[in-house]
Amino acid sequence: MGNEQLLDLWLKTLALLEPKLQRSQFITWFKDTTILSREDKTVVIGLPLPMFLNWHLEHYHAMTREALLTVDPTTEKIVYRVDVSLKEDVTRTVNLLDHFPETKRRKLPNRYEVKLAEGLTSKIINPRYAIENFVVGPNNRLAHAACSAVAKQPGGKYNPLFLYGGVGLGKTHLLQATGNSILKQNPHATVVYATTEDFTNQVVEAIRSQKMDQFRRRYRQVDVLIIDDVQFLANKDRTQEEFFHTFNSLYEERKQIIISSDRPPEELSSLQDRIVSRFEKGMIADVQQPDYETRLAILNEKAKEYELFIDTKVLEFIAEHATKNVRELEGILMQAVAQYELEHCMPTVKSIADIMRKLSKDPYGVENVAAEAIEKGPDRAHTFEDVIEGVSRYYSVSVQDMIGASRVRDILMPRQIAMFISKKYLRMSYVRIGEAFSHRDHTTVMHAVDKIEKKLQEDSQLLREIRAIEKEVGLAV
Ligand code: ADP
Ligand code: MG
Repeated sequence: MGNEQLLDLWLKTLALLEPKLQRSQFITWFKDTTILSREDKTVVIGLPLPMFLNWHLEHYHAMTREALLTVDPTTEKIVYRVDVSLKEDVTRTVNLLDHFPETKRRKLPNRYEVKLAEGLTSKIINPRYAIENFVVGPNNRLAHAACSAVAKQPGGKYNPLFLYGGVGLGKTHLLQATGNSILKQNPHATVVYATTEDFTNQVVEAIRSQKMDQFRRRYRQVDVLIIDDVQFLANKDRTQEEFFHTFNSLYEERKQIIISSDRPPEELSSLQDRIVSRFEKGMIADVQQPDYETRLAILNEKAKEYELFIDTKVLEFIAEHATKNVRELEGILMQAVAQYELEHCMPTVKSIADIMRKLSKDPYGVENVAAEAIEKGPDRAHTFEDVIEGVSRYYSVSVQDMIGASRVRDILMPRQIAMFISKKYLRMSYVRIGEAFSHRDHTTVMHAVDKIEKKLQEDSQLLREIRAIEKEVGLAV
């Protein structure tokens, strides 16, 4: 068979494999592969690297065999041969990106509002957060056990349940996982997950529209109330007042209440004493920073979730060096995914080290901001959701409007700023940002980023606003 026929045979085989595999798997493991020869009913599949050999034999051989037999039923034998020159020689391999362009659209994680009952809203609980995929270590064992117990018996012994700990250590994960688990067992339960900020906004709105009675009635129908980051109740007296009443009436009816905070109750000094003493009546559990083994276990879990095949050495390297919190670990892993998709290269210790270096430095070009940010060691491992929510809060526009199609002027600027921050700090590609904003074209994103970059050079007010948002989101100190 000539080269062209071999390529054609391989292309047809790949076309059968592609729909069966995750995109990242397909691209990673079938890039630079080919059929080297086909003689005497023996097909020789060429692989570009020695490490591919085992992987193909273990994971893809059966599939490849089936596909090949469908395309060419006379095939009797399949062998694999490593040929490192395949990496350089594009004439012998199939260009996967040309032949299999990405069509599948990534969905934005659901963190937006849902209506539970007339006037009663909750953030959508992210289904990705489950008690089962929360990795237990010495740092979070108690919190995990308490959440599991609450999930089994809401309104039981551990009420209220109060979780506290630093940023990015898994509080929101546990809270939402508990809500998820309760809903799974009892789909009719009214589970409200709200950030303290959501709750505050609702109180403010109720006051404004003079519908406080309605507000109270609504909250009293709740079976499980989950309030995240309660430290933000500080100095909000009226909201604290309402929170206290809601808390009491739910508590008296043996409804489950779950709270998180960045510090233990006794340190919530700007909260009313009566509230703090309610918290202290229940179960209190902390989450601490994970140790090395737990970090490694979390990385393994996340890699599995994202279907990333990363060398154990690389994961160990990350676990060793990313010690701050779990969000940082995850951030680095997500960067590795992005690199995968853009450059189609397997993460190596070196590429991860580069990513980590970039994550801890490389702010945008405005010099003094950059210098200051570097000095204070900004925390860059944040998610797109953090950014979009931060911008939405800052400009008081809804997340939905911002990522949606609205062309209203008031929305345009925040949207462009969100795109700009995503690009600069999260290092998302233009294409990915475009997708996140309701599948906009990547050129729209490029335009937005350029525009903000230019504006920043002369508009010091804008610079201040962006810095404020970055601070809010935790991207700069
Ligand atoms: P917090 O609310 O405490 O700031 P999050 O719950 O948002 O932190 O956690 C940050 C990220 O880290 C989330 O994506 C979460 O899934 C992940 N995470 C934290 N701890 C764990 C853990 N023990 N096992 C698995 N994932 C974790
Ligand atoms: Mg949180």
